[in-house]
Amino acid sequence: MAKIVISEQMHKEAVESLEQEFDVIFDASLWKSPNRLAENLGSADALIVRNSTQVDSEILNASPQLRVIGRLGVGLDNIDLNMCSERGITVCPATGANAISVAEYVITTALVLLRGAYFATDQVIGGTWPRYELIGRELNGKTLGIIGFGSIGQQVGMLAKAMHLEVITYDPLPPKDDSLAQVVRRVNFDQVISQSDIVTLHVPLTSETSNLINAATISKMRKGAIFINTSRGGIVDEQALIDALISGHLAGAAIDVFKDEPLDGNSGGRFVNAPNLILTPHISGVTEESNARVSFVTAENVRRILIDPL
Ligand code: NAD
Repeated sequence: MAKIVISEQMHKEAVESLEQEFDVIFDASLWKSPNRLAENLGSADALIVRNSTQVDSEILNASPQLRVIGRLGVGLDNIDLNMCSERGITVCPATGANAISVAEYVITTALVLLRGAYFATDQVIGGTWPRYELIGRELNGKTLGIIGFGSIGQQVGMLAKAMHLEVITYDPLPPKDDSLAQVVRRVNFDQVISQSDIVTLHVPLTSETSNLINAATISKMRKGAIFINTSRGGIVDEQALIDALISGHLAGAAIDVFKDEPLDGNSGGRFVNAPNLILTPHISGVTEESNARVSFVTAENVRRILIDPL
C-alpha cells in the first residue's frame, strides 16, 4: 500500500478519504521538525504540505521513494522544484481552489482602507465623534491595477468589474478566460503601477519577481494609492512600503504575506508607525470553504498520481 505523509493541517474528511486507499501519516506539526519529517519520509510515496514545510534538498534526499508532492495551496516557493524535476517527482498545487477567498480579501481590504471610518471604534466609544475627519473614498469608479492575471488576479478582476471599477492588468501571459480579457485593459508594468488607484499583487515569488515592488516602483505609484499584497513577502521591499505610508505617498496598504513569517515581537515593530495599514497572518486564501476545497483537490491530485501516474 502506498504511503502518504501529511505534514500540515488538512481537512479531516479529505484525510479520511485518502486513508481508505493509502497508508496515511497525518501530523499537522511535522513541518516544525525537519528531523522527524525526514524519518517519516524514508518509505513515503507522497508528501502533502502547505507553505510552512520547507521541502529542500535534505528532505528530498531523505525521501528516496517520493513520487508526488501535493501542495495545499498555490505558491511553490517552499519546494525545491529543480530537484523535484531531476528526481521525476510530480508537484501538484491546488491552483484556483483558494482564488475566490483571496479575491474577497482584496476587495474587502480595498474598501476598508479607502473608508478609514472602520478604524474609528475606539474614538466613537471614547466620545471623540470624528465625523468630518473620517470622510473616506468610494471604490466605485476607481482604477484597480492587477499585477499577475492568473487564477487569483482574474477572480479579483471579476469582482472588481461587478463593483464598477476600471480594471487594468499586467501579466506577460494572456488570460485563459477570453471573456474576461475583453472587459479588462492589458497594459505594461509601468502603466499598471502609475495609473492605478489600487494596486494588487498576484504573482509567484521567483528570481524575476523578487523585490519587484521597491522604493523606485512605489515612487511611481499615484499619490494616495492603496497597495495590497497577498502574493509573497519577498516580492515587496517592506521598509520602502512602510516609508511610503509614513510619508503619505501611499494612503494605505494591506499586507497578508511577509518576507520572514511569522513576524515576532521585534520584526513586527517596524510596522507600528505606518498609518492605515492592515496586517494579517497569511490568511487571505484561508477560509472554511477554501480549506475544504484545497484539501479535496489536493487529495484527488495525489490519489491520481499514485494510482495512475500517466
Ligand atoms: P497563477 O499561477 O494562476 O497566476 C500567477 C500569474 O502571475 C500567471 O498568470 C503568471 O503569468 C503571472 N506572472 C508571473 N510572473 C509575472 C510578472 N513578473 N509580472 C506579472 N505577472 C507575472 O497563481 P495564482 O493562483 O493566481 O496565485 C498567485 C500567487 O498568490 C501564488 O504564487 C502565491 O504565492 C500567492 N497566494 C497567496 C495566498 C495567501 O493566502 N496569501 C493564497 C494563494 C496564493
